[in-house]
Amino acid sequence: MSPKPTADTGPAVSLDPGDAFTLTVLGCDGSWPGPGGAGSGYLLQVGGNVIVVDAGPGTFATLQTIIDPVEVDAVVVTHHHSDHWTDLYAMDTQARFGRRRPPLPVYAPARVGELVGVGRTPMLDWRVVTHGSRAGVGEVSCAFHRTDHAEETLGVRVDGAGRTLGYSADSGPEWSLDELGSGLDLILCEATYTAEHEGTAGHMSGRQAGAAARAAGAKRLVITHRWPTIDAGAVAKEAEAAFGGPVEQATIGREFTL
Ligand SMILES: [Zn+2]
Repeated sequence: MSPKPTADTGPAVSLDPGDAFTLTVLGCDGSWPGPGGAGSGYLLQVGGNVIVVDAGPGTFATLQTIIDPVEVDAVVVTHHHSDHWTDLYAMDTQARFGRRRPPLPVYAPARVGELVGVGRTPMLDWRVVTHGSRAGVGEVSCAFHRTDHAEETLGVRVDGAGRTLGYSADSGPEWSLDELGSGLDLILCEATYTAEHEGTAGHMSGRQAGAAARAAGAKRLVITHRWPTIDAGAVAKEAEAAFGGPVEQATIGREFTL
């Protein structure tokens, strides 16, 4: 069974500026989870809508310290690398044996469903997205843009509650955060390593992330996806120099209000 392309078109967004938009980090280690860490995962609570963006190893455990998973309205997975999706299995299994609920919509590139095995996850409702797709989750609109990373990796723009989040997913420097459009209140951008590692993998350094966010006119930059072997302070320092202002660092459990 193959996942079917999503028929969602958008944006059918009804913005309510009175509602809050929060981003809580469930995991932020790059490429593999470090000691006590977790792969990529972010909880978005936008008005009354709850979206999990990426479901890397270890993120589902943290999610359950914040909310009951039954409250999650949809999951977005940016690409097929394992540090961004393996806890989909835990979400599926918990829904089967822990607390039943209707199948959970999962928006992801086709390759993710192929690797996970759509038929192995009966509690997940797979919906294929690609470059240019939009998905509506309640009153929230998600728009997807292909980045500079392996195969098909999709950065995401999330609009809701009168606020806008831009997430780079994983990307090398040959992609511009501008692709996510203007008016981003907060950019969550990968900064996997320091400048001396530039060009060694399909990722950005702190310097490149800071420069990209500045070029995109970001009001606020949160860096994430650092390899556990890389010094956090060094990445932040070069990101701030390139951004021209303060940069915040994602850490597990940290909450950002847009
Ligand atoms: Zn990654």
